[in-house]
Amino acid sequence: MRILKFGGSSVANPERIQNVANIIKSYHEKGENFAVVVSAMGGMTDLLIEMSKVAASGSTAYEKTLDFFSNKHREVVMTLARDYGRYQAVLDEIIEGQVELGNLLKGLYLTRDLTPRTMDYIQSFGERSSAFMLSEVLNYLSVPAIYVNARNLVITDDHFGSAKVYEGKTEANIKRFLAENPNTIPIITGFIASTEEGIATTLGRGGSDYTASIFAAATQASEIEIWTDVDGVLTADPRKVKQAFPVAEMTYEEAMEMSHFGAKVIYPPTIMPALQKNIPIRIKNSFNPDAAGTLISRNAKLDGHTVKGIASVSDVSLLSLDGSGIFSASVMAARLFGVLSRKEINPFLITQGSSQHSISLAMRPEEAKTAKVALEEEFELEMKAKLVKPVVLDEKLAIIAVVGDNMKSKPGISGRFFDSLGKNGINIVVTAQGSSERNISVVIRKEDEGKALNSVHDVFFLSDYYVLNLFIVGVGLIGSELLRQIKQQAEYLLDTQYVDFNIVALANSKKMLFRENGISLLNWAEELNKADESTDLRLFVDRMKALNMANSVFVDNTADDNIQMFYPEILNASISISTPNKVAVSSSYEEYLELKRLADLRNVKFFYETNVGAGLPVLTTLNDLINSGDRILRIEGVLSGSLSFIFNSFNGGKRFSEIVTEAQQRGYTEPDPRVDLSGKDVSRKLLILARESGLAMEAEEINIQNILPKPCVEAETVEQFMQALANSDDYFEELRAKAAANGKVLRFIATLEGENAFISLQEVDESNPFFNLSGSDNMIVFTSERYKERPLVIKGPGAGAEVTAAGVFAEILRIGYYLS
Ligand code: ADP
Ligand code: ASP
Ligand code: MG
Repeated sequence: MRILKFGGSSVANPERIQNVANIIKSYHEKGENFAVVVSAMGGMTDLLIEMSKVAASGSTAYEKTLDFFSNKHREVVMTLARDYGRYQAVLDEIIEGQVELGNLLKGLYLTRDLTPRTMDYIQSFGERSSAFMLSEVLNYLSVPAIYVNARNLVITDDHFGSAKVYEGKTEANIKRFLAENPNTIPIITGFIASTEEGIATTLGRGGSDYTASIFAAATQASEIEIWTDVDGVLTADPRKVKQAFPVAEMTYEEAMEMSHFGAKVIYPPTIMPALQKNIPIRIKNSFNPDAAGTLISRNAKLDGHTVKGIASVSDVSLLSLDGSGIFSASVMAARLFGVLSRKEINPFLITQGSSQHSISLAMRPEEAKTAKVALEEEFELEMKAKLVKPVVLDEKLAIIAVVGDNMKSKPGISGRFFDSLGKNGINIVVTAQGSSERNISVVIRKEDEGKALNSVHDVFFLSDYYVLNLFIVGVGLIGSELLRQIKQQAEYLLDTQYVDFNIVALANSKKMLFRENGISLLNWAEELNKADESTDLRLFVDRMKALNMANSVFVDNTADDNIQMFYPEILNASISISTPNKVAVSSSYEEYLELKRLADLRNVKFFYETNVGAGLPVLTTLNDLINSGDRILRIEGVLSGSLSFIFNSFNGGKRFSEIVTEAQQRGYTEPDPRVDLSGKDVSRKLLILARESGLAMEAEEINIQNILPKPCVEAETVEQFMQALANSDDYFEELRAKAAANGKVLRFIATLEGENAFISLQEVDESNPFFNLSGSDNMIVFTSERYKERPLVIKGPGAGAEVTAAGVFAEILRIGYYLS
């Protein structure tokens, strides 16, 4: 004998019921000996509960819901069994049942008295209707099915809402019934039962699985097949982790842990009867019958994964009792558990503080409220005497549990688990590990659940690669080049570095586009153009935070002065930042420090390597020197590509203003060349170098030599400036000629020496490293204790979209290595 159970989603509409009927028919035709347990049509139990509550609240609005409920059922018969000889009789029977339901609801409406007992009776209409209809549809298909109301067979106590099954009586009833009805296929109502007096009860929400297990145990079935809407027990809840995949085999104990910690695919009490009688349970997908499903059995085969699955409960409260004033910890614990047992509360997990006097319990929110009141009564006197502190209730929490038999005696599992939570800035409120070492569970804030599940899932199941979620603002020259480079390298990086880029959001100055599963790099520009939403940075940041995705990186490719105001809250939300935008790091020292502090606090990265020298590894080198114990004596640099080009080209051929115009035309200067020639841009870079060297420097402390004659400084527009510059050519030429007469050239050099930072136009001779600088190259010279005689020099193109984007790209990858 085999027991097949079909869940609500498998019988949610006429088409699904037809599909189930076909599966049953094929089993019958293969000569299988089996019985079927069926749930209410999907969503109907919820509707029955809702109708009852509405009626009992004195509103007639329940009538509409009742009509919907009736029509849903009639539609099945009308769609699937039109030509059936018993068509009218079946329809009449359904209508009759629903008239009775209507009367009951009317009674509730009048009396406004909804008891758990009535609630159970009303809920029984869901399973009674679906099982009855399925049996008739099968008869119509010439399958010898009989409708079985489990209320006549499954006997329970009168704990309405979640009754306890009397196994002996139930088993005898089932055996007798089957013996009296040979050669038929019983179509049994799941979930519902009755007391010995025949009063309707239910086995708890999701209880049809349990009914199947009870029938299997009674008949010593060879297997229980639970047909649902997913391909088995998956490595995590597929609604929360898109990459979850089916587990081929697991033990009863593993399945028990998974379901205890929220894997709804199997109702927890289902496992015990199967385990006791050693009956395998197979989870199958009625939407995809060819999939192998999951086999739950005593000797499940091991697969390569140490962890079998990650389960979670989304809504949990934590109750903490601290009775350090009570002399005996065990007395306190005994009284605490006495209260829980009287109130029939089963916490998900319990942890005890080292003082042995403080205990925290995670449980369902409604249970926590009941428990709090009951504990306050129990310890009233001790609380008055201040021997016990007031009960603390912490709400809006979630539990994540990693589960697997194979974790036993394997060190390092919790290390990886906690490490992954830590790197995503997820705070652990409480943690527990079962003594079986089969599960490690943590309580975290509810809003972190999705992020925690995904990052932990990545670590244990997708160790072959990890996903970096990018939120990119600014897709101009640098941003679009970055996307081009990512697209070009994506496959290589996936194969060699095991990183998968997921572009979750893009924004330019006009439009923004969000796509949780990733924006295609093939046509991102077109998609962004077509996007409906105008760019609103406030909204962008809010949405990015609300998505709360693991391994998130915010990339600011703009030169915008205002985005920096969002940086603190972005870092605070545990999102790393990578940016070529200098504004944040060169604002006040206090703001700079605060950003670093937040990044540290939230365990994320705030990187801005491209702020100095674009793609050249200037800041990382400086940090490496300092971290490895070197002492910086002096930093000198030509830190501006445009000024480098201008002075490198000023060698006696062209006039100074001509060269500035050429630099402008080549796109080397800012649109307004005064930003370069005034030394403002260089001074920001020097400020960043000073701060990275450990100096608490402000912008005003940098001494910038003005190289421009008065008319140039006073010019109001770019044109006036260029004109004034042309008029000053002789002045510059004089400077150049004077230097040349001594075998020297002019270089615009930023210097940090001790605590002095200054920028000046210097004459340098052949022996100076800056003498041979060419093109628009940047060059930075570090003189340190280790590099004293021969300084460390970094030289190369220090501007341009391609190298800057490459610098940002490398930096995002570094963030990824850290997070993975
Ligand atoms: P049925 O109506 O067939 O009883 P349920 O809705 O009770 O189905 O259970 C199946 C659902 O359980 C799946 O659709 C899935 O959303 C959810 N679920 C949660 N965790 C898991 C998991 N680890 N594996 C598979 N499904 C899960
Ligand atoms: N119909 C019941 C419920 O929705 C039982 C079940 O589906 O297993 O809880
Ligand atoms: Mg279910």
